[in-house]
Amino acid sequence: MASQIRTETAIIGAGIVGLSCALRLAEAGHDVTMIDPAAPGSGASYGNASSISPHAIGPVGSPAVLKNLPNLLFNRESPLSIRLPYLPLLAPWLLRFTAQCLPQAYERNLRAMAELQTQSKAAWYDLAERAPLRDLFIERGVLYAYANQAAFSAAQKDVALRRSYGIEQNVLTPTEVKELEPNLPACAGAVHHAGSIHLSDPGLATQRLAIAATERGARLLTARVDGLVREKDGVRLHAQDTVIHARRVIIAAGAHSAALARQAGDRIPLVAHRGYHVEFDMEELPISRPVHRTHLGYYMTPLEGRLRAAGTVELASNEAPPSQHRFDQIERGTRETFPGLPPVSRRWMGLRPALPDSLPVIGPSSGGADVIYAFGHGHVGMTLGPITAQLIMGLIQGNTEPEVLRHFRPTRF
Ligand SMILES: Cc1cc2nc3c(=O)[nH]c(=O)nc-3n(C[C@H](O)[C@H](O)[C@H](O)COP(=O)(O)OP(=O)(O)OC[C@H]3O[C@@H](n4cnc5c(N)ncnc54)[C@H](O)[C@@H]3O)c2cc1C
Repeated sequence: MASQIRTETAIIGAGIVGLSCALRLAEAGHDVTMIDPAAPGSGASYGNASSISPHAIGPVGSPAVLKNLPNLLFNRESPLSIRLPYLPLLAPWLLRFTAQCLPQAYERNLRAMAELQTQSKAAWYDLAERAPLRDLFIERGVLYAYANQAAFSAAQKDVALRRSYGIEQNVLTPTEVKELEPNLPACAGAVHHAGSIHLSDPGLATQRLAIAATERGARLLTARVDGLVREKDGVRLHAQDTVIHARRVIIAAGAHSAALARQAGDRIPLVAHRGYHVEFDMEELPISRPVHRTHLGYYMTPLEGRLRAAGTVELASNEAPPSQHRFDQIERGTRETFPGLPPVSRRWMGLRPALPDSLPVIGPSSGGADVIYAFGHGHVGMTLGPITAQLIMGLIQGNTEPEVLRHFRPTRF
């Protein structure tokens, strides 16, 4: 017979989003149960480029991407490509994405993202007051390096745009780049996003968050939630051989959230932007901050005892096996950047939860606040996890104005 659990708030998914919510709620005295079949923080929140990037306000879909879309999608060397057999499956999402690339939609999405991003860094510092994270913060900014003059000149438009949102940036000459990161190959120029930070180990950060949440009384159940049923006085979840009766449920299952949201009555066009990383264990790291050589399409981030090259987007299903071609491509570009790297220590592929407008879904389900959504943070979920938790906390306590969440409604599609 299935075992039964009663809880006030069940959180499905223990990635950066679910864990940040769990910690805040448990700290405020809520009875919280986190449910995840895997170890906390072992999804996308483990393998990302580790950048806390308030500067990243640009949606993936833009007029520039639209102009180049067929070229990008069907070239397997491009940083945004599709695996052809999955085209029929992904066609409806791609159509929606195309619409979000149009100028008006792009500008609306950019404004919404900028609104969220202005609070993202402070939310991380606030979280670090509640869990031992502060020693993992490296405050050296993020560097975007441009290979040629044309790319560097084109980037100035984005620099001006970010400035208009008050984002701190320094435009650097090749000599200044050499001073900042002497081991980088020559470039035409760079932009230093001085206000961004990175974590020396994102996996360790999420482990510490999980410990901090459990120390404040949150429970962790190792199981996959397959069934969600609304009841008179809450929600019933079926998680393998356990039934959970919760007053409310927060769905924070990353790229796997759509099937659960559907059971709560919302059809949300969520797909995975599959991203890759390759790691090189080494004591002496060649860079001291995340570097994005923009023509490569991925970051190179110095982590504790290793260099991680992480990024690119591959469109396929959640279940498709990783592509060796992608691993080789990232390894090749990283070795060209830093000749003499040791053999690859680790390879990883993970799922960014991606919506066509590059904005997350945050807030109550269309059927009511007994089911709350917190997923779809795409390329900036590490950055936005803590601010999402603050908004959800405010929603539950009645302090978040519904107006603040207007851009993130599940019904916007
Ligand atoms: C290569 C790459 C580089 C990136 N770089 C950055 C970066 O530099 N900066 C940044 O801000 N963001 C970055 N991101 C994005 C960021 O990592 C994600 O947006 C973020 O981690 C998503 O967090 P999450 O908690 O929503 O999902 P996840 O971390 O994926 O967590 C979801 C959890 O839900 C669980 N789950 C799934 N289904 C169920 C179910 N049915 N029942 C119970 N549990 C379930 C999973 O096991 C998982 O633990 C990157 C992503 C990738 C892939």
